[in-house]
Amino acid sequence: MDHLPPYLFARIDELKGKKLRQGVDVIDFGVGDPDLPTPPHIVEALVTAARDPKNHHYPSYAGMLAYREAVADWYRHRFGVDLDPKTEVLALIGSKEGIAHIPEAFVNPGDVVLVADPGYPVYRTSTLFAEGTVYEMPLLAENGFLPDLAEIPAEVAAKAKMIFINYPNNPTAAVAPRSFFEEVVTFAREHGIVVVHDNAYSEITFDGYRAPSFLETDGAMEIGIEMHSLSKTYNMTGWRIGMACGSPEIVAGLGRVKTNIDSGAFDAVQHAAIAALTGPQDCVREACATYRERRDLLVSGLTELGFDVRAPKATFYVWMAVEDSMAFAAMLLDRAGIVVTPGIGFGTHGAGYVRFAITRPVERIEQALERMRGLDL
Ligand SMILES: *Cc1c(COP(=O)(O)O)cnc(C)c1O
Repeated sequence: MDHLPPYLFARIDELKGKKLRQGVDVIDFGVGDPDLPTPPHIVEALVTAARDPKNHHYPSYAGMLAYREAVADWYRHRFGVDLDPKTEVLALIGSKEGIAHIPEAFVNPGDVVLVADPGYPVYRTSTLFAEGTVYEMPLLAENGFLPDLAEIPAEVAAKAKMIFINYPNNPTAAVAPRSFFEEVVTFAREHGIVVVHDNAYSEITFDGYRAPSFLETDGAMEIGIEMHSLSKTYNMTGWRIGMACGSPEIVAGLGRVKTNIDSGAFDAVQHAAIAALTGPQDCVREACATYRERRDLLVSGLTELGFDVRAPKATFYVWMAVEDSMAFAAMLLDRAGIVVTPGIGFGTHGAGYVRFAITRPVERIEQALERMRGLDL
């Protein structure tokens, strides 16, 4: 436990609690949790399935075959990727669960795991739980927030067992060109590294951009696994359902760990997930349109205020350069009652940024901009 990084969001949580107790109307752009409800046809599928006693037992470890088939069909239609639902798809209790468990399958004490900085904190903590050694790959604006694989020292690459990548990216909102995925495959093959791609935001995209699956890349199926989830796509964060897809050996390794830890995802939730993946997809398009409107409002408002900020092509985050992320986030909360996430909480290279989660309606974004205009920033 002593090796886990300090929880750097504590200071902001504390300050937010204080403001709320003072009766301040806090506008919270901190949480990466959609404010939109789960579409009704998915909720209906859960209700129906929950009433059926067949679904009240222990689920299967790997997930219902019908769910894994729905995932495979979705991957085929959406990405043109062919998956064998029996060996190349595994149900997850949310993608965080798969990310948290996969190092246990492949990382021995002292093995190196390549982790982006800034990045989703679980890549680092899951490595530490497996007693692996974290090597931080800086994500820099000048590289489009992609790690520079050529900068990884040869001795580090030789000891590396796993690399975590995530595009569309949280927290930077960057997207990756296909050529980057090709580079990752070449690098991983050369050094015998398992690639874990976190694709939680593939469906939250704008302006005609369509995010690929890492598994579309030539050779990826041999060395890679993709963690995916219904959380962000269908506003199902509370439901805890996701999928791991890719190389049968890697999927089996993760499955073996999971068999010894959890007993699968509730069958009724898997039925609802089938309804989500196989049902009408206009709910996804509507959610993206909502985020796009919010993004445009926030980005143009922040730009007018003189901030260095770009409209992201994907995710529901806006990543804004500031001088000192913790000082800026604390100041904004203290003086304007606005919560943003300090980038330092995602790694040292996040120290010059704050993240806005646009999981709040346009009226709240307008109010926040109005408050910021009054601050004389
Ligand atoms: C939200 C998120 C996840 C986890 O989502 P689940 O709800 O566990 O499926 C994983 N990775 C990133 C980058 C996220 O932002």
